[in-house]
Amino acid sequence: MAKGNIGVTSDNIFPVIKKFLYSDHEIFLRELVSNAVDATQKLKTLAAVGEYKGELGDLTVRVSVDKDKGTLTISDRGIGMTAEEIEKYINQIAFSGAEEFLEKYKNDAQAIIGHFGLGFYSSFMVSKEVEIFTQSHKEGTTAQHWACDGSPVYDLEDTIKAERGTDIVLHIDDENLDFLEESKIQGLLTKYCKFLPIEIAFGKKKEWKDGKNVETEEDNIINNTNPAWTRKPADLTDEDYNNFYHELNPMGEDPLFHIHLNVDYPFNLTGILYFPKIKNNIDMQRNKIQLYCNQVYVTDHVENIVPEYLTLLHGVIDSPDIPLNVSRSYLQSDGNVKKISSHITKKVADRLNEIFKADRTAFEEKWDNLKLFIQYGMLSDEKFYERGEKFALLKNVDSKYFTFEEYKTLVGENQKDKNGDVIYLYTNNTDEQFSYIEHAKEKGYDVLLMDGQLDVHVVSQLEQKFEKTRFVRVDSDVIDKIIQKEDVAQVALNNDQRNALVTVFESQIPAIEKTNFIVTFEQLAPSTNPVFVTQNEFMRRMKEMSALQGGGGMMNFYGEMPDSYNLVVNTAHPLVEKLLKDEEDACNVSITPIAAELTEAESKRTQLKDSHKDKKDEEIPTAEKAELEDLQKQIDQLTDNKKAILKSFAADNKQVRQLIDLALLANNMLKGEALAKFVKRSVELL
Ligand code: ADP
Repeated sequence: MAKGNIGVTSDNIFPVIKKFLYSDHEIFLRELVSNAVDATQKLKTLAAVGEYKGELGDLTVRVSVDKDKGTLTISDRGIGMTAEEIEKYINQIAFSGAEEFLEKYKNDAQAIIGHFGLGFYSSFMVSKEVEIFTQSHKEGTTAQHWACDGSPVYDLEDTIKAERGTDIVLHIDDENLDFLEESKIQGLLTKYCKFLPIEIAFGKKKEWKDGKNVETEEDNIINNTNPAWTRKPADLTDEDYNNFYHELNPMGEDPLFHIHLNVDYPFNLTGILYFPKIKNNIDMQRNKIQLYCNQVYVTDHVENIVPEYLTLLHGVIDSPDIPLNVSRSYLQSDGNVKKISSHITKKVADRLNEIFKADRTAFEEKWDNLKLFIQYGMLSDEKFYERGEKFALLKNVDSKYFTFEEYKTLVGENQKDKNGDVIYLYTNNTDEQFSYIEHAKEKGYDVLLMDGQLDVHVVSQLEQKFEKTRFVRVDSDVIDKIIQKEDVAQVALNNDQRNALVTVFESQIPAIEKTNFIVTFEQLAPSTNPVFVTQNEFMRRMKEMSALQGGGGMMNFYGEMPDSYNLVVNTAHPLVEKLLKDEEDACNVSITPIAAELTEAESKRTQLKDSHKDKKDEEIPTAEKAELEDLQKQIDQLTDNKKAILKSFAADNKQVRQLIDLALLANNMLKGEALAKFVKRSVELL
């Protein structure tokens, strides 16, 4: 029996491995099974080129657990190792600056294992002793038994092994006894080895018999050796693609469509990406792309390899050219990774364009489920925007779809205002903004439906991209002012009438929390509503943005502001004209004398103030100062008196409140007690 020292420069490498790689230690199984698969494939290659002439026999890799002995064994019937090969590949691990490197990457097990080619040695993360029994395929060689307890000292001796190939026997240590649980190993094999190219058996299939789970004769094969992405697209039907999708996502809904990636220059990449139905929540969908390296599962965190929005897709990418064992920051700067990323972006866009061109109807049917993905891509990647411009769609309230170009043709002239700006009208809620949509339609205008999770951002982006184009929500103003064709008619009210109506309406607006109203006047068509509510587009958008970003600073300032609405009074409407007349009839008798007094007081005050214009404060006689103060008090008092008369008129006049409530109701803002009162009042008025 030979004894030797494993060729490491550091004496205590195994304790270090155990300690630092703790979090990721389950990957030992992936490493050992991959080695077994490699050894088997090498043998197949040798046989294919005639260098191995023996029987291949059953090549299944077998994983088994012996709870009594406390061992986990991985057996293959691959090429095996001679004594020299064990010496070379197992004993002489080329370490250089091991400790320094371990210190640097202590939180990144992948990096350490990759750096040292430590695949096999990762078994020491879970074992107190590891044994190798191996019989090389080479004629005339003796089987070898290697054993090591984790110190840098190993034993190597001749042994007898009937079968060609290698058994790796792990004596699981006390802290890792869970790796002797069948369900644990089954789970890990499914995670890491599901698509390895050589069959892997974990025990026997089980079956229910006489109320018991009993083992059958059949191997429990845990992998699909020929997954769809490794096959030629020409050999696959749509059903094959769908079936493979469900193999990856057993619970998932059918995908919308797929892309088969197949590149061999300037890098190697295969894979299938699926477009899932993304309804309305982006965050639910991430991390459904699995990254493989020659069919060995590596990770489902691909955010450093593909642009963020592509992580919404589902599927598999397999590339031996993605450096798997390096740190994440290195990945992002790697040239191959960048190329892969832009290649995938291009493929995805090309595929979408292809489907759009080949079958517009089908594309439109899928649009609602695709929209979030495409918008996310266009918002986050300029290149993708340039491609997406051709197939991204806008949907209107009648569920008609338009490309950007088509929509411009539709509304470009008709919705141009007097300044030459084209106004794209939109709604984010067809129910709440129903009457505004109707008004726009009556004018022959088109209204877009922008009710998606990203539409607030899309609106801003398109405004920047399109020339002389603004997006305005239908309820942000009177339609004739949103798209102002010519100068609108002047409001035919004098100052007194204006002030009187402001007081009348203001006094009757119900208090709504965090909401302000400003009474404004418009001379609109008599057929337009008498009173309605609008909300300024700019302010509303600022609030929406701040809500989305949850940000501080200026954005937060907008977020804190109350919602400000306009209560627009249409002075051309007969009801408003009548109201004004009723007000004058009812109030003029009492208001006229007050108004006369007011005028007098105000003119006195003006005179006095004028006489003080060129004087310094100390030059003004005290008596005059007092008089000015009295005048101001008098004016305030008279104004209050006047307002009181108007308020009392408004309170007694059911129509004022009714008009306001109708406007609020049309905007879905009439709630609770106010709504109940409205209903009661309506019945009374009838
Ligand atoms: P890597 O697989 O990255 O080369 P490992 O430490 O996992 O590093 O393995 C080192 C070498 O040991 C392999 O390259 C291979 O030559 C040999 N080896 C490991 N496992 C087996 C096996 N099951 N059968 C034959 N050779 C093996």
